[in-house]
Amino acid sequence: MAGRLIFLGTAGGRVVVYKQLRASGGIWFEYNDTRMLIDPGPCSLRCITKSKHKLDPTKLDAIYVSHRHLDHSIGANAVIEAMTEGGFNPRGTLFITRDALEDDPVILKYLQKYLKHIVLLEEGKTFKLKDIEFTTPVKHIHGVETYGFNLRMGKLTISYIADTKYFPELPDYYNGDIMIINVVRYQPSNLLHLCIPEVKQILIRATPKKAIITHFGMTMLRARPWEVAARLTEETGVDVVAANDGMMVEL
Ligand SMILES: [Zn+2]
Repeated sequence: MAGRLIFLGTAGGRVVVYKQLRASGGIWFEYNDTRMLIDPGPCSLRCITKSKHKLDPTKLDAIYVSHRHLDHSIGANAVIEAMTEGGFNPRGTLFITRDALEDDPVILKYLQKYLKHIVLLEEGKTFKLKDIEFTTPVKHIHGVETYGFNLRMGKLTISYIADTKYFPELPDYYNGDIMIINVVRYQPSNLLHLCIPEVKQILIRATPKKAIITHFGMTMLRARPWEVAARLTEETGVDVVAANDGMMVEL
């Protein structure tokens, strides 16, 4: 049994994404023969095809879109085209929120037809995909419908805490041995995003074995994510790593 995560981008927040200070390709997840692309932003297909890890979009089983914001969803269009070989080989599952497909759909309608299944994410539901199973435990506070997940692969659980404003019960919903946390802000703000003091709270309460912080906005980039991660490790006892573009984590 083998699994891996490849960070095809670590950009978060509008400025870092539109200036492409970091890439915004999402996260490639793989476990045995199951492959899922998580939150593909604007450059996703290029990040996949140019990856040194030799990734093949036609091998994807699913795409997971946590919410409709551009940096989490728009890249799915080009990836669906590639995954289905221009629609000649309809396949794959799209996990996505309901509001991402309503009046202003973030996935073009003709591309939606290339997919085998479109599955709407809902609070508290469990979804199966070949060798894996994941639950979307709670609706996040992010202005639009948003879900992270707890994903079981064999004995290991991985949590993905997608964009959200912090709320006191948040750490109780995620139980991963490995936690991927989107942290746009270094310090508290009135934006609907996590910041470092809140990530610290999550780590202390949820006590994962390892945490990977990613999805950095400008204030995080200026604070040097690797230094921030080292401090979090010291302060919480959790092994915290700051993701880099192209970084691979073996599971
Ligand atoms: Zn967002």
